[in-house]
Amino acid sequence: MRKSLLNKRVLAWCLIVLCVFSSIGPVHAWGFFAHRRINELAIYTLPTEMFGFYKEHRDFLSEHAVDPDKRRYGVEGEAQRHFIDIDHFCDGTPHCNPFLKMPRSWFEAVKLHSEDTLQAYGIVPWHIHVMVKRLTKAFESKDVNRILRTSAELGHYIADAHVPLHTTENYNGQMTNQKGIHGFWESRLPELFENDYDFFVGKAQYVEKPLDFAWDFVEDSHWALDSVLRFEKELTESYPSDQKYSYEERGRVIINTYSEGFSKAYHERLNGQVERRMRESVIDVGSLWYTAWVNAGQPNLDNLDADIDSIKEEIAKELDVPEQNALKKREHE
Ligand SMILES: [Zn+2]
Repeated sequence: MRKSLLNKRVLAWCLIVLCVFSSIGPVHAWGFFAHRRINELAIYTLPTEMFGFYKEHRDFLSEHAVDPDKRRYGVEGEAQRHFIDIDHFCDGTPHCNPFLKMPRSWFEAVKLHSEDTLQAYGIVPWHIHVMVKRLTKAFESKDVNRILRTSAELGHYIADAHVPLHTTENYNGQMTNQKGIHGFWESRLPELFENDYDFFVGKAQYVEKPLDFAWDFVEDSHWALDSVLRFEKELTESYPSDQKYSYEERGRVIINTYSEGFSKAYHERLNGQVERRMRESVIDVGSLWYTAWVNAGQPNLDNLDADIDSIKEEIAKELDVPEQNALKKREHE
């Protein structure tokens, strides 16, 4: 009797864990946590003329750093703005540099590969360029609403482009039996170790050619990809398999995730890589905000009044669209 009760309890517990495990949604680029931190930290790279305004709206910029992820399955055309599967253009050819196969100019790239192909494999560097131009226009017209929203969202796309797994078709290790690595690298690791990161990144710099600048950090991300995948694979082979994952309580649910021990060992092998990509994100967000402001003629931001409540209302309305299954092309992004 007692035994069967115990069995029932164990079974019920297993079911709860299983339900939670299987209902965990898609992971988000850099994790919501890191996106918010990156936008917030970028404020401290800005020159005095911009700092007051951005600091005043720190909460908004941080909170809305994740809006683009919230609408990626509700708005057609959104999902592909967050990544570029650059290795697709090498088509498996060994020792091929995919960046030599892709013109940096949008028009040249469309001519060579067609717009449909580019949209299918991601457009992040070009979208960053579009967003810099939008932010410049917002500054020119002193449209506070647009300045804040575009700054927050530009920060998101720049940060995404700094994540190595945002530059590959194997974005979640699904082609190399490493499923889950996306959220591991960009969410779990920063959440566990960010406290030890050094975020003194210096002052925002003016960027002469934003599109080239965006391509440069996409390239840096892609060349870091080999370590991201290889170190995890090597570690998995040498690590006790029953200790790779563990159950953890998150609020009122139990989740199955990479254990702290495995995370620490992987983080050590990466030798500061997550910190370096996060630091680069911070300074590059600050630099492109600054560049847009300079290109707009350095407008005075001190007397701009923002009606934050109405901006938030506008955003809430826009985000209140049903998710479309057709837009969920990727299981994890
Ligand atoms: Zn994203």
